[in-house]
Amino acid sequence: MRPTILNPLFAPIRSLQGIGPKLAPLFDRLLAPQGSEARLIDILLHLPHDAVDRRLSGRLSDSVAGQSGTFEIRVLAHKPSPPGRARVPYRVFVEDETGDMALVFFNAQRARIDSMLPVGSIRFVSGKIEFFDGHRQMTHPDRVLDAEAYAKLPPYEPVYGLTAGLYPRILHKAAQAALAKLPEIPEWIDPLLVKREAWPSFADALKSLHSPQTKDNLAPEAPARLRLAYDELFAGQLALLLMRQRMKKETGTSRSGDGHLVKAALAALPFALTKAQSDALAEIKRDLVSHERMLRLLQGDVGSGKTIVAFLSMVMAAEAGWQSALMAPTEILARQHYERLKPLAESIGLSMTLLTGREKGAARTQALSGLAEGSTHLAIGTHALFQEAVEFKNLGLAVIDEQHRFGVHQRLALAHKGDAVDMLVMTATPIPRTLVLTYFGDMDVSLIREKPAGRKPIDTRALPLERIDEIVESLKRPLSEGRGIYWVCPLVDESEDLDLAAVEERAQSLRAIYGDKVGLVHGKMKGADKDRAMADFASGRTRILVSTTVIEVGVDVPDATIMIIEHAERFGLAQLHQLRGRVGRGAERSSCVLLYGPLGEIGRARIDTMRKTEDGFEIAEEDLKLRGEGDVLGTRQSGMPGFRLTVPTRHSALLSIARDDAKALLAKDSALHSPRGEAVRTLLYLFERDEAIRLVGAG
Ligand code: ADP
Ligand code: MG
Repeated sequence: MRPTILNPLFAPIRSLQGIGPKLAPLFDRLLAPQGSEARLIDILLHLPHDAVDRRLSGRLSDSVAGQSGTFEIRVLAHKPSPPGRARVPYRVFVEDETGDMALVFFNAQRARIDSMLPVGSIRFVSGKIEFFDGHRQMTHPDRVLDAEAYAKLPPYEPVYGLTAGLYPRILHKAAQAALAKLPEIPEWIDPLLVKREAWPSFADALKSLHSPQTKDNLAPEAPARLRLAYDELFAGQLALLLMRQRMKKETGTSRSGDGHLVKAALAALPFALTKAQSDALAEIKRDLVSHERMLRLLQGDVGSGKTIVAFLSMVMAAEAGWQSALMAPTEILARQHYERLKPLAESIGLSMTLLTGREKGAARTQALSGLAEGSTHLAIGTHALFQEAVEFKNLGLAVIDEQHRFGVHQRLALAHKGDAVDMLVMTATPIPRTLVLTYFGDMDVSLIREKPAGRKPIDTRALPLERIDEIVESLKRPLSEGRGIYWVCPLVDESEDLDLAAVEERAQSLRAIYGDKVGLVHGKMKGADKDRAMADFASGRTRILVSTTVIEVGVDVPDATIMIIEHAERFGLAQLHQLRGRVGRGAERSSCVLLYGPLGEIGRARIDTMRKTEDGFEIAEEDLKLRGEGDVLGTRQSGMPGFRLTVPTRHSALLSIARDDAKALLAKDSALHSPRGEAVRTLLYLFERDEAIRLVGAG
């Protein structure tokens, strides 16, 4: 149970005064995973990434083009847009003792400007100074205040990552209201460390970051930032160590077979394993045979062929007389694995079953009894696999695909379906080496860096969205050649319904030209409809598949050769890479078209990276760098398992301290019962690593 002192922080943001039904969904959109509500803790941990200096910048005559500043001015005269010429801006002329300036407003409402800047009044304006035809001007000042309001303005105004419709002031107010509810929280960091580093308490750190006194307060190296990054890393390391501690308690079982089934399976494959695949398989075999329990991470870029390695590992377990299970994060993926692997399994005399939320009635009963009796050797499924009703006769190996989508608890739940089950987790999001430890603790790692031979490079192009018609037109040829085309629609900022409207509209406009060659798949569809859409595309009945990002993970249609991504700038690098990885799987040349809207700096850098390289590991490093530069998109769009407070490139030095500290603490107090242990439980709840607490039991 969560410590009651934390309850206020986990209340929804809409419980704050001033956050009504209009604003709340915007906060949800910005701060919470899809379908859930943003809470006070989410806004507290949503730190400003910059601060605007609102102190007076001096006199107008000192101002420099391109610089932002705040000036005290007197209003001289108004020059509204001429009637009928709304494109000519509304100008307000202002001055101080040293010079003058025009304030420029486009599409201005006269009444509003009149009341904001009455002629003769003294005002404080802030914004960016520009020169136009030699005249000083400021376009759409971000602040226009009278003396009284200016006196109340903090000297530095925090700048937050936003979503359409939310304004900095609203965020600032909400953060302040949330801060007011922050309870007294016990210190969980080693007091010696806090002292040595001169770190503020958790509460003070949050307070100083939401009300910065200088820009430097917000730098990644500022004490408050370091402290919070440490908290996050420490929570992560504790969770991993708790899991490790639990797993290692159960000693492993040696599982060795004579190799005849693996040999048969290899002979049945239409290709030979790559060297990287064989190496990974050999490492897995060693783990299975050893008396230590396997805890191995199989990392490989998209398309590097992890699935077959997983399958052969399962065959090894079967050879030794054990059942195994492969858990995939989505139903589409589970079904695809099942359809691919079942014939192969049967050809070597192994029986395989599928278990997802959709297997009902007789099919489900049959699947369950096969697993319980042991007549089924291999199980493929989704979360449904670790539900209570599911029993295995002798589960020996659990494989978890796309592991970052599952929590520690879910992984464990599957592992607990047997005794000392060996664990193989796979991730297709290449994770820079520096981070593997952070996410996975001291798991053993097998790396597949090489792709199967014969893959051709993917021709990646970037075009502005205005040229979309050209692209639509250019599909004629590949379609006449029978190629498969993915068309991925963007995430729309405001709501899921709009996301949906966008795909449906795109599908319709493509159907107007290409008729029933166009299929559609999105996350809101019923399972059976999704399957049908995927199957139609895989079989060639449809040849353009319009989708949201549901196809991001794992889907494999080898004769699809074109990937079109609309509003590519809205996707994170890892996600773009995953999407592109859906093509280039067969012998044909493939291409990827990134259609982009207005580009910011980060969006441009992402697209450049995509054009420059196809190496997932390189892309991951680049992603990390970009996100290190104050990327405010956070984890939802980046597709990488992520941090909220840690900037990996800047804070990596804290990781080993956090690890050592976590180890030392657990060595003394493995059940977290000491006063510091109790404080650490609070930390785990705050950072939502509380599933780890279940591993040590209630306090
Ligand atoms: P991922 O690592 O992204 O999960 P998959 O396991 O889906 O990759 O493999 C991608 C494709 O490559 C599949 O169609 C698979 O059959 C094929 N493949 C896997 N290994 C090899 C290989 N050694 N040679 C040729 N093709 C391979
Ligand atoms: Mg895969």
